[in-house]
Amino acid sequence: MKEEEGRAQKLRWVTIDNQQKLATENFVAGNKVYDERFVSINGIEYRVWDPFRSKLAAAITKGLELMPIGEGSSILYVGASTGTTVSHVSDIIGKSGIVYGVEVSARVAREFIENVAEKRSNIIPIVADARKPKSYGVILSKVDVVYADIAQPDQTQITIQNCQAHLKRGGYLLMVVKSRSIDVTKEPREVFLEESRKLQDAGFTIKQVLKLEPFDKDHAIILAHML
Ligand code: SAM
Repeated sequence: MKEEEGRAQKLRWVTIDNQQKLATENFVAGNKVYDERFVSINGIEYRVWDPFRSKLAAAITKGLELMPIGEGSSILYVGASTGTTVSHVSDIIGKSGIVYGVEVSARVAREFIENVAEKRSNIIPIVADARKPKSYGVILSKVDVVYADIAQPDQTQITIQNCQAHLKRGGYLLMVVKSRSIDVTKEPREVFLEESRKLQDAGFTIKQVLKLEPFDKDHAIILAHML
């Protein structure tokens, strides 16, 4: 993403201490989610988005070819954790968008709900196991984008099931792959290729397989399109 393209958008580059940093317009002005830095531009408050803290920020910084999440998007986010990345997605989609955040751990989900979801009206938390995507009764219509980051050995199969249940035709998938969670004995490159093939066999077109180093070792993000 070039700086000029992001100028009037909720996701943009900002210059801090002569360095280009990614930032998102704060959906809830004054509200901090973690220890992120605030920067004000033309009276608008932005939250600096650290690629070492968020794999989506790492992917954009490393040159994600297409950012499928924009203002007004509907997102199913699988593996919400405490909501660090979900909060930036909430900033980007704004008040006309919606993000459903699925998290299986009750303890982690409590933190996500209390610190993030309760403060942001465009986040719907779902405390559920992603292995049962049909149990998310709150999702009434199919979403534009599925984002999956669950670090499980069978994560691609789980992700495909989530897409089959909830992703609209023509929608995009962003799936984080941590090679060590899938197979410690294989070269990460081999794991990324195998998981991509599983997505292709399920009908996805792979747009990009992007390694996230130096931000995350042995991780990649796969951008895929469901026709
Ligand atoms: N995406 C998060 C971020 O950037 O802030 C980090 C996600 S963390 C690597 C993986 C999360 O997926 C954990 O919080 C874990 O509890 C959750 N998870 C793992 N298996 C899951 C499942 N079957 N259903 C739902 N969530 C799951």
